[in-house]
Amino acid sequence: MTNYTDRHGVSHPLPAPEAEAQVRADDRSHVFHSWSAQALIDPLPVAAGEGSTFWDYQGNAYLDFSSQLVNLNLGHQHPDLVAAIQQQAGRLATIQPSIANDVRGELARLIAEVAPEGLEKVFFTNGGAEANEYAVRMARQFTGRRKVLSMYRSYHGSTSTAISLTGDPRRWANDTVDSGAVRFFGPYLYRSPFHAETPEQEAERALAHLEQTIQLEGPQTIAAIIIETVVGTNGVLVPPPGYLQGVRELCDRYGIVYIADEVMVGFGRLGEWFGIDAFDARPDLITFAKGVNSGYVPLGGVVISDRIASAFDTMPFAGGLTYSGHPLACAAGVATFEVFRRDGILERVRDLGARIVEPTVRSWAEKHPSVGDVRGLGLFWAVELVRDQETREPLVPFNAAGADAAPMGAFAAAAKKAGVWPFTHFNRTHIAPPLVISEDELVRGLGVLDDALSVADEVA
Ligand code: PLP
Repeated sequence: MTNYTDRHGVSHPLPAPEAEAQVRADDRSHVFHSWSAQALIDPLPVAAGEGSTFWDYQGNAYLDFSSQLVNLNLGHQHPDLVAAIQQQAGRLATIQPSIANDVRGELARLIAEVAPEGLEKVFFTNGGAEANEYAVRMARQFTGRRKVLSMYRSYHGSTSTAISLTGDPRRWANDTVDSGAVRFFGPYLYRSPFHAETPEQEAERALAHLEQTIQLEGPQTIAAIIIETVVGTNGVLVPPPGYLQGVRELCDRYGIVYIADEVMVGFGRLGEWFGIDAFDARPDLITFAKGVNSGYVPLGGVVISDRIASAFDTMPFAGGLTYSGHPLACAAGVATFEVFRRDGILERVRDLGARIVEPTVRSWAEKHPSVGDVRGLGLFWAVELVRDQETREPLVPFNAAGADAAPMGAFAAAAKKAGVWPFTHFNRTHIAPPLVISEDELVRGLGVLDDALSVADEVA
């Protein structure tokens, strides 16, 4: 029997390696996977996880630089979260949303306390896409308008409205012409759609483009603008100074609801409770999921401004979910707040990001011909790989699949072989480890990615 040793030096048995064959067989025969051609994938069976590491059935350890889709902010098997879920399950495992419940109320209060001023109420959902569905529904009911503006480079989830608002190629197979979604270009200085050369120019021109889009679509038809505070899977695009404040002003000028999608960056990823705290702009609705309880039990939601919430004081809100504010999920959320405060999670994210990650990844741009751009904040960074630093031709094409994606596949395989589980998407690798990662682990993982970039250099 193989053992794994956790970060406290305690040894635990792994299931027998033979068990892996059954996991693979069941998965191959009966599990229908997301976003995949079913016969072309070979998912790794994972046996156990602890902190920033998980193990396969052969006892190989992987340092998790993806946090499982940027979800596990407090890492695998956090004892406080596990205990909170167990205790709640022993007391009251579930109760319908129309009944008042202690942990649901406590979590809503804790969220409101750290949300920007004037956002006091929370509608709970089961994940990020649903949070965006409901935010849009609120904005439509509130304004009586229908269109929603979103960025081309965006991901807002895979349910009907959320996938229509998504700008990236994941929407192509799901697009419906009557979704009410209108796309615009957001700021992206490295590949500026506005031919800008400075962040200030990028912000100014991106705002002028957004205002023109609003005017040409007809302001009186637009319910909301939805923006990821830092664009996540489309490249960790940190907005230039002034951009989000400018969006706020445009929303005020035209009576449009500003929805900040914080599904990926909320709850600590940028070293702030909400990512928007780093940018000094106040949205009307903030959507969240993932980090609120590290995904231990599915949970998401919408934080609602007083202005919008009070419109529903007498007008019934037209929506609801059986599992809204599930007690097990909320118990894990309350425990998350305790851990964040006790262990100074936000402070360590800011420290590790600025002191370790930023200087390391910036040095890669000098050292590796395949590195075109690096950008990020807190423990959320992207390294964009190119064939040629001058032309900025992406190492793999946008929406690359199959053989086209081979160079990124080779990079990821080299990282995995050396014990790091990377998060790669198109021509980028994203650095998003659990926020509890130790300094040693972080340095070691970055070293592995540095070595793996040499594989990309050879192709570039
Ligand atoms: N919004 C953003 C910014 C996301 O990154 C994601 C998922 O990665 C979603 C929404 C969708 O969340 P979920 O997969 O929980 O539905």
